[in-house]
Amino acid sequence: VSRVARGQRGLIRRLDRSPSSTREAGVQAGKHASFSFVTRGVLVILDALQPADSKASAALAVECQFLTRRFGAKDALAGVTLNVRRGEFLSVLGPAGCGKTTLLRLIAGLDLADSGGLKIAGNESSHVPAWRRPVNTVFPGYALFPHLSVSENVAFGLRLKRLPGRDIVRFATSAMELLHLTQIAGKHPHELSGEEKLRTALARALVVEPEILLLDEPLAGLDAAARQRLGQTLRELHQRNQNTFLLATADAELAMTASDRVAVLRAGHIEQVDTPDVLYERPRTRFVAEAVGACNLVQGEFRARSGQLLEAETSIGVLVMELSEIGIERAEQGKFIFGIRPERISLRGGGASDNRILGRITEVAFTGAMSRYVVRVGESI
Ligand code: ATP
Repeated sequence: VSRVARGQRGLIRRLDRSPSSTREAGVQAGKHASFSFVTRGVLVILDALQPADSKASAALAVECQFLTRRFGAKDALAGVTLNVRRGEFLSVLGPAGCGKTTLLRLIAGLDLADSGGLKIAGNESSHVPAWRRPVNTVFPGYALFPHLSVSENVAFGLRLKRLPGRDIVRFATSAMELLHLTQIAGKHPHELSGEEKLRTALARALVVEPEILLLDEPLAGLDAAARQRLGQTLRELHQRNQNTFLLATADAELAMTASDRVAVLRAGHIEQVDTPDVLYERPRTRFVAEAVGACNLVQGEFRARSGQLLEAETSIGVLVMELSEIGIERAEQGKFIFGIRPERISLRGGGASDNRILGRITEVAFTGAMSRYVVRVGESI
């Protein structure tokens, strides 16, 4: 179905296109351009309840039940229920101040919840002291011992466990090899780059083989190339060790590329927990849609339905979209918000059944692999 919306004001914020195809199209800022999007690319933002995690307790590394933590008048955690499966890499994603560190501190045993339950490896753990939990933490800034060398930092936990000397050397050596620290084993923390500090902290935390590794903003402060390298390192370490990784971050790209599942945290509440692809394609709320990637949000009003195709009156014209059954049911109730990911929008071409809209390009930004277009159309919301 093809439609054109004319004479309306507003903004479709982003279209990402490869530079070569847009150069071919001769698209420039200030010019009018017709663009299209495939019906499959539209998604409805739902405020549906999250079904409970059906995994049996034995398969869970961490079970948080309505955890709350209040500081003065502020609820840092306002009833967080979250299950982390054994061997899973789960990221808690959210903006600064949403409660990520507070949640990790409760799980590590460094702070006490005001209410709620916490089980670790199947055991009620709310009042178990930190040192008795099968958990190790990589803190922001890494908290390396400044007076110890890299190898002494890595061996520290093994010494604490009073392992025989030869085992300490064997395990520490293999952890340092794994994290590429052998060449710098004798250096002290003040002589290390940020990346080397993180590698040392990871080796120190993993060498004692904790069931659960907590990582609090591990890549903060590193440059883009190091972030990419170490994101990959985290993924490889997880695949190799099979322990449970629970990472807190405000970096959507890290959370989405490294994790098996992502829990989106907003002001002390879990908004949605799902695999990265489900979060991206079927976010339940507007907050989640925007937290995991760029998204053009548009208001729609139900007009008609034919099978899985829905026709809606929107602020950018009458559009036809293909939705899931639950999306259709939600939209049929009347007004709804839907999102269009930038990469689903085409500046030219498109099939006969695609929606077509006329807009004015107001900005073009070349970002290397992609170009970002800002196109004014319809009414922004
Ligand atoms: P960031 O990424 O900036 O560290 P975060 O998501 O980890 O943020 P938390 O550090 O858990 O967030 O903080 C959640 C809220 O609780 C914030 O508003 C913070 O100011 C508050 N908070 C955390 N710890 C304390 C404390 N010890 N005393 C008072 N308020 C606190």
